[in-house]
Amino acid sequence: MKYYSTNRNTPEVSLKEAVIKGLAADNGLFMPETIEKFDNSFFDTIEQLTFQEIAFEVALKFFGEDVEAEHLKEIVYDTLEFDCPLVNVIDSIYSLELFHGPTLAFKDVGARFMARLLNYFLEKKDNLVHVLVATSGDTGSAVANGFLGVDGIHVHVLYPKGKVSPIQEAQFTTLGQNITALEVNGTFDDCQHLVKTAFLDKQLNTLMQLTSANSINVARFLPQAFYYFNAYARLKASGTLERKDLVVSVPSGNLGNLTAGLIAAEMGLPIKQFIAANNQNDVVYEYLLTGKYKPRPSVETIANAMDVGAPSNFARILDLYKNSHKLISEKIIGFHYTDEEIRKVILDVYTEAGYLCDPHGACGYQSLKEFLKEDQVGVFLETAHPAKFTETVEQVIGEGKVELPGKLAAFMKGTKKTVSLGTDFTEFRNYLLLEV
Ligand SMILES: *Cc1c(COP(=O)(O)O)cnc(C)c1O
Repeated sequence: MKYYSTNRNTPEVSLKEAVIKGLAADNGLFMPETIEKFDNSFFDTIEQLTFQEIAFEVALKFFGEDVEAEHLKEIVYDTLEFDCPLVNVIDSIYSLELFHGPTLAFKDVGARFMARLLNYFLEKKDNLVHVLVATSGDTGSAVANGFLGVDGIHVHVLYPKGKVSPIQEAQFTTLGQNITALEVNGTFDDCQHLVKTAFLDKQLNTLMQLTSANSINVARFLPQAFYYFNAYARLKASGTLERKDLVVSVPSGNLGNLTAGLIAAEMGLPIKQFIAANNQNDVVYEYLLTGKYKPRPSVETIANAMDVGAPSNFARILDLYKNSHKLISEKIIGFHYTDEEIRKVILDVYTEAGYLCDPHGACGYQSLKEFLKEDQVGVFLETAHPAKFTETVEQVIGEGKVELPGKLAAFMKGTKKTVSLGTDFTEFRNYLLLEV
């Protein structure tokens, strides 16, 4: 399968090149040349398949031409060592819990898949590939844990000293093995600047193979379609969908998750309606209403993984629907919530249904609550475990009520190991050259 750039100003590339490069040469995002549809018969019996079996069928449609089936199966099964269960919250509203992976957020799925696919594409395994990732918290942990123990790859996580939460820090500084945490005495922007400068340094790039694990990478983004198919299968198995239509609500920031869902629908998955649930960073909400896309600087909210003012995957959605606002606004409906509203939702769901949402999932839940009709079933993506946002959630439901899951507690017990760096590029460069 070839991948083209959404800017259409550079030749198409192979999957391998798209995965290693991340971003197209013309700064566009890679899209698969064709989106293969499933036969109806696949959906007739989908409920008989397990999550891993379904994900493998979907993966074959994306990557079957480029990766031998046997290897692809291994990659998929290994990625999905944890489940993404569907939990009934209240009435016809279900939570698709995407937080059962190692760092308790949905990004684990894409990061784990990408690590394994990259490993597959590395020809000379004795030649290490170095993944550089700058993080303000969550991306670093998903990437570090996704790549942990994967042969042939060393991950360097750059993070701003004193500016990530203790839990986030523990999730990438205690791993050891092929993961090195670099504590930069500066801001997140300084970290990002160091990484970008490294990618542009010609000599450095001839001496060592550097790559990014950015969330726009096709190997992180496409696998997110897996769990949409599984949600449908589990609902079908329980008889919930009889004579009812499926509505899926996606708490959205950079729109990667939503775009993967739209692609699943293009493959034939019967999702009647998508909802993009925003916090106060609501450029998508505004676009859906007005047809005008006006990116702007982000503002801080309690659903901070959605604090995005210029969603990167918006280009993919425009591409998918040929820039038609009409098509896009039929397919997707927008909702947006203030911090105050989000807090109220967390409390209401907790009191009424005994279910604890994180601030992102709460936006998804509430949009269904407001939108859903009699003949519809709603699923919202619960994108992170509420314990990742303990402080915010406990302010709402009371101190000491959020249990720290064993996985998070285990990170906190590990020994923190970091390399200290300044913001000067020469120092970072010298550090990297020691790895050659
Ligand atoms: C990254 C993230 C989001 C936003 O997902 P996008 O794919 O960028 O739209 C939502 N919730 C949580 C918890 C996240 O980590």
